[in-house]
Amino acid sequence: MPKDGFKSITVSETVYDKFFDVYQKSKEELLMKGVNSFSGYITYMLEETVQKDKTFARYAPKLEKISVDGDRVVLKDNIKNRIAEVTIQRGELFCQLCEKKDCFHIGFVFSLPDVYEILSAKGIRHPK
Ligand SMILES: [Zn+2]
Repeated sequence: MPKDGFKSITVSETVYDKFFDVYQKSKEELLMKGVNSFSGYITYMLEETVQKDKTFARYAPKLEKISVDGDRVVLKDNIKNRIAEVTIQRGELFCQLCEKKDCFHIGFVFSLPDVYEILSAKGIRHPK
């Protein structure tokens, strides 16, 4: 039985092992983010995913990803009916259309899982 204020869920051994393996491999990196247990890691990951999905759902019909290459993400803005190019400049994202570092387009870029991977690997985080 889990302790007060906690609930447990059951997953297959395969699923558990898969995530546990990832957790073991990224332990040090997770510690820097304040994640110090396996269940903490699962919580952190789920929260991040839910957040990203929400962001994505909010933007999705209005913005479309056209292409991603290296340091450049090209989006189609269906509201302005314009192309928005988001590039990485000095370790930060910059929107060429708005000439801003924190617009709608940049928020959308962070919600794209494949782009997020690239950005994460480069150590670029969404400014909050
Ligand atoms: Zn923009």
